[in-house]
Amino acid sequence: MVEINPVVHGQMMAIPLTLASVMRHAERVCPDSRIVSITADNSRHRYTLREAFQRVRRLANVLHNLGLPSGTRVGTLAWNDHRHLEAYYAISCSGYVCHTINPRLFPAQIEYIANHARDRVLLVDPAFVPLVEKLAPELRTVDHFIALTGDRSVLDGTTLRWLCYEDLLAAASPEFSFPDLDEDAACALAYTSGTTGAPKGVLYSHRSTVLHTYAVTMPTAFALSPRDVVLAVVPMFHVNAWSLPYAVPASGATLVLPGSKMGDAAILATLINEERVTCAAGVPTVWINLLAYLRTKRLGVPSLERVIVGGSACSRALLEAFENEHDVDVLHAWGMTEMSPLGTVNTAPRSADIETRLKQGKPIFGIELKIIDAHGHELPWDGVTSGYLKVRGPWVCRGYFQHTDSPAHYEHGWFDTGDVATIDRDGYLQITDRAKDIIKSGGEWISSIDLENAALMHPLVQESAVIGVPHPKWDERPVLYVVSKDGTRVDEGSLRHCLARHIADWWLPETIVQVDTLPHTATGKLDKRALREQHAAVMK
Ligand code: AMP
Repeated sequence: MVEINPVVHGQMMAIPLTLASVMRHAERVCPDSRIVSITADNSRHRYTLREAFQRVRRLANVLHNLGLPSGTRVGTLAWNDHRHLEAYYAISCSGYVCHTINPRLFPAQIEYIANHARDRVLLVDPAFVPLVEKLAPELRTVDHFIALTGDRSVLDGTTLRWLCYEDLLAAASPEFSFPDLDEDAACALAYTSGTTGAPKGVLYSHRSTVLHTYAVTMPTAFALSPRDVVLAVVPMFHVNAWSLPYAVPASGATLVLPGSKMGDAAILATLINEERVTCAAGVPTVWINLLAYLRTKRLGVPSLERVIVGGSACSRALLEAFENEHDVDVLHAWGMTEMSPLGTVNTAPRSADIETRLKQGKPIFGIELKIIDAHGHELPWDGVTSGYLKVRGPWVCRGYFQHTDSPAHYEHGWFDTGDVATIDRDGYLQITDRAKDIIKSGGEWISSIDLENAALMHPLVQESAVIGVPHPKWDERPVLYVVSKDGTRVDEGSLRHCLARHIADWWLPETIVQVDTLPHTATGKLDKRALREQHAAVMK
């Protein structure tokens, strides 16, 4: 008989994993680390973490004096700057939920998510004051509007009772004792881009965010250290800027925030060179534009050691341009709002083969992956068989905020990413497509990502997008859209020749359309739904 003993518990301290612990650590251990940001009222605001956290305490007093119950959602409509960073910490560490709203969404979507989240306070960059003034009658739960500025004149002529951020901070005490929070308490809320249906909220906990912060700083991920100067081009309204507002202070690095200038290649180049940025994070579009600018101006970025490319697939052309033209390493990362967001990072050395280096990388410790077929059977990790990708881990969501619909996305303890992927025997993930973007032609799958990447191998193609269109014989066929680098037409013959060198001939699109621009979502990704609608309207 096997004797069943009661569980013997470890005797280690159960210190809650809360964002206040990140703040305490950063403040004590690296108080002189710098934060540099661009705001509407200052082209280069600079201060230290010590000063930042003093202001965080002042803001915590302001919020406390509003008499909000714990768990209240406090919304932000703001760019990447020091005030937004202060809001991140003051809101979450006070026991409220920092709800970052993407200001690039359609006004109706902003209204929907602010109402759905039941935001009580809105912290608003001056650029979005006119937008909020218009939306205010529909914002049913917001009682307090705070303009993130020290310049009262931006509020001239407004009709709402705006509070001015710097006035509030100046009048508040710098002493504040943050409450002891349960590590499972919610700290932040982000809504998914919602390409189908209504946007859905992902409610992060302190615990999930702290664990994700540890993971992000590891050498198998972004490898952050006090030697780094990190430029967060990824917006703070897009999945907490991939955790950089937590991970950079936690690791003692310098944080550089480009304000509203994240799409301005000239300003990004200047920031990188003047602040001696070593590591920068953003979506491929940002980097494509920066590289084009550097090429035209014959500029270098000598301090830059690595760029984190995520949100959409990194093409071979992008990776090679960084390596060959600037000696910069590319860390190709994959994740999603529901994963806080990081799932995989590619840290393969330059000596590894290019096919491996272009994959989305290996799961970071804490994240588990599996691929399944349409019947739910697990598929092999052979780098060839592709299937529906499921994930689990302590920073993966297990349900959407106040959403009682079918739990199809997260049943049986695994979250259905909606992506289709292969995984090889070494654990490298390769995203083949979004399940809804993959093209089913003659019973076989064509990866729109692979086809787009093949088009980007042509020296004159700046951006590409592939959609599937109905076909009487083959079910669906791909249509390729391209934007040229210099505004002139790309010779179709040479483009077809280039494609033929990289993809199977039955993948070759019958139709290639040349356009000046392609539609993008509010987070800077290709908007394939809009492109499909555009294509259908033209074909009518
Ligand atoms: P979001 O939640 O808006 O960040 O979108 C997440 C989705 O973006 C993922 O499910 C993927 O479809 C896509 N995505 C993110 N990173 C990558 C990447 N490196 N390569 C390809 N697709 C990506």
